[in-house]
Amino acid sequence: MTTPEHTMVGILGAFALGLHNRFGWPVVAFAALASNVPDLDGLPMLFDMERFEFGHRVWGHNFFAIVVTSILLAWTQVRFNWVQRVGCYVARFLPSEVVITEQRADSPIPMSVFILVGIGFQSVHLVCDMVVSGGQGLSAWFVKPFWPFGKTGFVYPLIPWGDVGPTVIMMGGLIGIAKYGRAQFISVLTLIVLISYLFCRSYWA
Ligand SMILES: [Zn+2]
Repeated sequence: MTTPEHTMVGILGAFALGLHNRFGWPVVAFAALASNVPDLDGLPMLFDMERFEFGHRVWGHNFFAIVVTSILLAWTQVRFNWVQRVGCYVARFLPSEVVITEQRADSPIPMSVFILVGIGFQSVHLVCDMVVSGGQGLSAWFVKPFWPFGKTGFVYPLIPWGDVGPTVIMMGGLIGIAKYGRAQFISVLTLIVLISYLFCRSYWA
């Protein structure tokens, strides 16, 4: 899956679980970010494609890295509130209808929530990479969730990488939420449509 797709899975997943009602927007933003963390293992390729290519989809795409980075992100978040700080900074450039408040101090979000959201949504990233894989002359990428302890790779390609279906479906869901509200209901519906699409697409491909 691409970065925008992983981001939308994070936002819709957080809405579907009702995290926005319980903890506010920072947890939704944190979920969107956590959804992309495994792909940070592709960053070294920006500097040296040949030397680091083998690390992409390995170094960050495993439970060991997921737990370590989730604890690290959750701890820095609770300590420095960086999601709220970045959010407030970004809000300055958005239309005035977008109101972002820092909401903290009175009811701080526990670190355990951020750790769980981090681990949960990074694990969903692995599943997304397993089902959206290969196609168009590309070979399927095997995800190795137990690396570096186990080297077994898993893949279950349902749709080829680059298929626009998931983007269209999830964008539709988010536009619906922006227009009508009811974030939790529309998110659950969107995710059901998305999963049905994946299976139908693989069945009739
Ligand atoms: Zn990935």
